[in-house]
This record gives sequence, structure tokens and C-alpha cells, in this order.
Amino acid sequence: MNTPKTDASLPRALLRHLTPKLPQMLRMLRTLVIAESPSLEKAAADRCCTLVAQQWRSAGARVQRIPQKHRGDHLRIEWLPNASARRRGQLLVLGHYDTVYATGTLASMPFRMAGGKAYGPGTFDMKAGIVQALHAFEALRAAKASIQKRIVFLWTSDEEIGSESSRKLIEMEARRSDAVFVLEPSFGPRGLLKTARKGVGEAEIIVHGRASHAGLAPQEGVNAVHELARQVARIQAWNDLRRGITVNVDIIEGGTRVNVIAERARASIDLRALTVADMRRVEKRLRALRPITPGARLEIRGGFNRAPMEHRVSTKLFAKATSLASQMGLKIGDCVAGGGSDGNLTASLGVPTLDGLGAVGDGAHSAHEYVLTKTMPQRAALLAALLATT
Ligand SMILES: [Zn+2]
Repeated sequence: MNTPKTDASLPRALLRHLTPKLPQMLRMLRTLVIAESPSLEKAAADRCCTLVAQQWRSAGARVQRIPQKHRGDHLRIEWLPNASARRRGQLLVLGHYDTVYATGTLASMPFRMAGGKAYGPGTFDMKAGIVQALHAFEALRAAKASIQKRIVFLWTSDEEIGSESSRKLIEMEARRSDAVFVLEPSFGPRGLLKTARKGVGEAEIIVHGRASHAGLAPQEGVNAVHELARQVARIQAWNDLRRGITVNVDIIEGGTRVNVIAERARASIDLRALTVADMRRVEKRLRALRPITPGARLEIRGGFNRAPMEHRVSTKLFAKATSLASQMGLKIGDCVAGGGSDGNLTASLGVPTLDGLGAVGDGAHSAHEYVLTKTMPQRAALLAALLATT
């Protein structure tokens, strides 16, 4: 690709350029996967971060490493495709290099390739996404495509544990951006993009009762376990699968021994909602809980930490992606994801966001995690085309 491409021929040219790059992409993927990078182990995560930085530097990118005290460092890569790009706005490409697997997982789950799949911890979620983005960047440079905007790639280290250390950075870059492309894995064998995501939260109800001898003075006790059971029954009724509201009490504990009326009980609750309005409604109901048993006291903690990514933030970008894919002879679809990602953070700022643009495969967070390798150049080409035309 030595001559600048016209708009119409660009998507196909990108795909043609990227298809033979699959062996390089797989070598790069292997390098990243065998550098295990659990969110909670800074030293290991930093080693992987160094490799990602090296890969991008060798591709000619300007890499800025943003040091973190307790988590792996974050990487910010800024690309100014031409002198006037700065004025014309910014596009953000977002992903994370941390995984949910502790160091040593490779021993039982090595990187391997078989039957058109690449297996290993973090292949699908989401190291293949980072590799695809790097190749999208290279392909755009090789194509000399006339790109309108500054492009920032952000690779963070703590998405899998809630993005505490990266959230500010993500939000700051998102606010400056006209669109955000999230390289989280796609869904299912057809690689559906994620055009909406549920908001996700975690709450806790602690019941304070009063201990007493269950035989000698039952009337003096306030049973925290009984009270919690009644509250759980209340909360359970808030579930509304059709609306996309789920409220699940997933951990429960309380009491000390069998002849002592339980003084304390606690429940941890997983909260999910598809719309901001429903999220607020659930939070309000949670705060409005009052004790049923006389003498009991309730303490409510937590709430949603990632707001829903509503459909409307992705509609235009998905339409564009569909049209670009069809120009490349590819078919894409979309879905709603029940889980959150950093896309929720950018979407809730109102910035157009398209998620699930990363790898096609399956088994995220499980022993059979894999990527369908032949889709890697296709997805890299789709991202490149989006960056060139947004
Ligand atoms: Zn992920």
C-alpha cells in the first residue's frame, strides 16, 4: 500500500494488508500471554507492561508510561497522524493488559495453538485486542490513510478489579474524545459487538440485632438473621429480567452459635441494570430499606460503580462499523452484555462508545479461554477503518 487510498477502497485495502500479518500477530500475542499479568501482582503486571510498550515503540509509536504505586503502570500512546489532527479532535482506543489469572496459571494453561485457535490466560480477554490495535495502527500508517484526528491508545492494568487506579485517566481521555473504541472481547462465535452493557454494582446490607440466650431470654433478643432473611425476600422481588434488572444476594453470613440469638448478619448483593433510570431506582430502593423487626438496625453500603452503557451511545458507531465491515465482505452483529467494562465509564460521560471490538473467541476468565486466530486480521482491519473514518 504505497499510494494514498480513496475512502471507498480503504477498508478492503486495510484487510488485504492485514491478512498476511497473522503470523506476526500470533508471535506478538504469545509474547504478551507468556508474560502473565494479574491485576493484583504489580511486578508481574509491570513486566507485561514493558513488553507492550516495547512492541508499540518498535512500531514507531510514542509511548508514555504512567507509573502506578500499587498496580501495574498504565500506557498512553498518542498518535498525531498529521499536523492538523490535533485541532480536529481525538479518538480513544481503550483496553487493559491485566488478566484474572494469578502468576503460575501458565503451567496448567500454557499458550498453545490448535485447530485455528490460540489458547492461554488472557488471550481473549484481552491481549489479542491489544495486538489487533497495534496492527491497525501499523496498517493505517502503511496505507498513508488521511486520518482526521489525533488517536490515543490507552492500555490499563486494573480493569479486571474495577479500574480504581485508571478510572480518572480513562475519564479524562474520554472527555477529550469524539468517540471511544473498546477492545474488550466480542461475544460468541460470530463475534458480536457490544452496543449496550448493564451497569454493575455491589452492595452490602448489615443487620445489627441484639444477642440473647435463645432459651433463657428469647424475648430480649433481636435476631439479625431473621431480619436479614425478610430483607432478602424484599430485595429478591426487585428482579425484573425483562427490563434487565438483576439483584442477587450472593453471599450471606450471620450469627455466632446455635443457642445465641444472632446479633449480626450480612449479605453481599450483585446489582445490575440496563438503564440509568433503573440503576437510580434500584439504588433508591436500597437506601429506602427500613428494618421490619422492632429493635433491628440496618446499615447499607455500596451501590453501582459502573453505570449502564446505554444503547444510544453506540448506535451511530455501530452503523458505521456495519457498513465498513460489509465493504470488507464481513458481517457483524451486536448484543447487550450483562457485564461491565471500562466502556461503561466512557459511555456514562455521554461520549459515543463502541465496545467488544477486540478478539473473537470464547472462555474469558476460564481454563479454555481462546481466540479464533483467523479473525484477528479482520478485526484489526475493522478497527483501522473505524479510526480512519470517524
Ligand atoms: Zn476485559
